[in-house]
Parts: sequence; structure tokens; C-alpha cells
Amino acid sequence: MTAVYRLLHGTLFMACCSLLQAQPTTLLRPARVFDGEQLHEGWVVRVRGERIEAVGLPTTLPKLTNVPETVIDLPNTTLLPGLIEGHSHLLLHPYNETPWDDQVLREARSLRVARATVHAEKTLRAGFTTVRDLGTEGADYDDVGLKQAINQGIIPGPRMVIATRALIATGSYAPKGFSPDIDVPQGAEEADGHDRLIMAVRRQIGKGADVIKVYADYRWGLMAEARPTFTIEELKTIVEVAKSSGRGVVAHASTAEGMRRAILAGCETLEHGDAGTPDIFALMKQHGAALCPTLAAGDAIAQYRGWKKGTPEPERISQKRQTFRQALQAGVIICAGGDVGVFSHGDNARELEMMVDYGMTPTDVLRSATATNADVFHLADRGRVKAGLLADLIAVEGDPTKQINTIRHVKLVMKGGQRVN
Ligand SMILES: [Zn+2]
Repeated sequence: MTAVYRLLHGTLFMACCSLLQAQPTTLLRPARVFDGEQLHEGWVVRVRGERIEAVGLPTTLPKLTNVPETVIDLPNTTLLPGLIEGHSHLLLHPYNETPWDDQVLREARSLRVARATVHAEKTLRAGFTTVRDLGTEGADYDDVGLKQAINQGIIPGPRMVIATRALIATGSYAPKGFSPDIDVPQGAEEADGHDRLIMAVRRQIGKGADVIKVYADYRWGLMAEARPTFTIEELKTIVEVAKSSGRGVVAHASTAEGMRRAILAGCETLEHGDAGTPDIFALMKQHGAALCPTLAAGDAIAQYRGWKKGTPEPERISQKRQTFRQALQAGVIICAGGDVGVFSHGDNARELEMMVDYGMTPTDVLRSATATNADVFHLADRGRVKAGLLADLIAVEGDPTKQINTIRHVKLVMKGGQRVN
């Protein structure tokens, strides 16, 4: 029986391979290629089916025999891996349009999903071919269907890594400020303690979560300041259960103590990290936890509160600059993720520009948004321009390793070998 299966399987496999070889190829000819790590002048990329077949100088590419090849000339452009947004909320829209509380409490889920389909298309057209979407913020499991609609080709959008509802400690999250006599719907799932947390993590996984998001702290202190939420034991339970299913845990953590607990519990990425200290960043480095700094969200919120760019920076912003620099000095792995949704979808490049403004080189920022994000999010099939990986590719006019804002001048987006624009 096993032998028959093997034989059949082998035949099928060979049939697939010969079918692949007959597939037409596309040759992309930009001025240069940023492969996720470094820049190569004069490189070209051959795509076959949904994958990258070969990369390098034209003279080094294998010769094709009897296979039609479409050539796409992309003069003056840099070709890069499709960008990976590390922190999005496709089911949110900017808070200066509608405050977060009202999006959660007053907007129909059908409205939110309708909007999200537009957000997905804008994201893809901006060159972000993958998003790690970190919580539906009250829209239940609607990211599951959104991801399916994209994967089934019903709507255009990026590949999605989803967190579904995310986990919060009871009483810690929002919306807040209502009569204690009524139960107000919350922006994530409340669960506490050993058994209930195990059940909640498993339920979210069963419903479709690719990653578990947890709020390690939130603004629930006496003065409405951010304070830790879950105990370290609770966080460890969440990580243990998620990990045994092969999934990582990502922690919203902006206080030093929330960060410390998240790191020691084994969370893979920490989001925000605003009040990190040199000691905390050294601990992150030691444990290999990555920081997703969400600079653009802080910048957007400061402006929604009345700060005008060009006038002296509010305390929060100058503090963020300082802690981000400390993270860089400590050698912490930096992901690229802006918390987009707080600001406009499609404007994801804002985070990359701010990472440069706050002290990174453009090349390091591009590495974060491609190879590093892919490595940290366990996406081995993308994030680099390399033979065998998915042909998720973009071309931008100019050289973003010299001027990061050229990343906005998108001339081509290809997802899985299909040209989007
Ligand atoms: Zn977020």
C-alpha cells in the first residue's frame, strides 16, 4: 500500500515538475536589485509561475530553451522583495476620522469589513505584499474571512498573518468610562488565569489565528497611565500553549515592567516599547526578542492631539526618539511595523521614513521591512529576492537605499508572480 502510494506520489510529482518547466517565464530588468540584505547593480530576476526562478547578472542566468519569456523593462528602478508590514489593523481606520471607541462601539461589523477590503487593496498597491495584522479590535474573527477573500482571489490584498481577537486581562482594556452596571463590548477577548487562558488561546488558534497577540500592559493605572496587566505566569501559559501549536506570541508592551514580563515569558516581538530602558533592551537582545517600534502611530496620535509638525516636539515624541536609539544601541532586532490603521492604510511607508528619521540607515530599514520581518514572523517563503521564494516583488523609481522616500514611487507590484500594478 505504502509502495503504491509512493509510486503514485512520485509520478504526480514528476508530472508537476514537467508542467512547471513548460510554464512561460517573466524576466524583470530593473537598474538594480535589493535582495533583502544588500544592493546589486545590474541584476535581473526571472519569475516562473508563482516563484522566483533565478536572480543575478544577466550573464549568470541559465539559458532558456523553447520557453517563451516576457521581458519587463524597469529602467531607473530598484527591485525589492514585496514589503512586509509588521503591525497593521486592516479593520481600523484613522482615529482623526472616527475615534477608536466609536469604531468599536458604533460601526457595524459589515461596515468595518467593507472598509477593510479597500484598506487591503491600498496596502497591496503601496507595495506591501504581506501584513501581520495584529487584532481586529472588536470585529471578532472578521480577519479570518478577509484573509480568505484575498487568498481566494475575490478581492485584491496582501497575504495576511492574522491574530484574530487578541487577548486582554479582564478590566484592563477599552472602551472604558461607562456605567459599571453595563457590560461594554471590548476591543479584544478578556481571559485570565491558567485554564481560561489556555482555552482562549486554543480557541483563537482553532478559529484561524496565525499568531497570538497579548496586551502585556495598558492604560489602566490610577492616573490612567500604562501599567502591566497579565502576571508573568499568565504570559508564560499563553506562550507555552501557542508555542506547542507552532505559533509565536506578540506582546503589546510599552512599560518597562510589561516589556520585562513579555521578554521573560518568551514573547517573540514586543510592540511599541515606548518606555524601554537600556537594561530592558539588553534583556531583549539577550532573549532574541524583536522590537516593532510603531513610530508612525505615536507621530500620528501626537498630531491628532494638536501637535503641528515643525513646532517643538511633545515630550512623548522626544522620549520615543531616545528609547528607540537605546534599542538600536543595544543591538535589538528591529521589525518594521507602523500600527497602520491608526493612520491611513496605503501610507505604510510612513513608518519606514520615520525609522530613518529616528536614526536607522535606509538600508537597515529596508532589511527590517523585508528579510528581518520574514525571519522574525517565520515566513521562510518570502522577504528576499532569492531563487525558490515566492515572486512577491516590487519596483520603485530611484534608489531607496539612498533616499528612503523613493519607496513610495511604486512602479510595479507583483504578488505570487501575478502583476498587480
Ligand atoms: Zn496595534
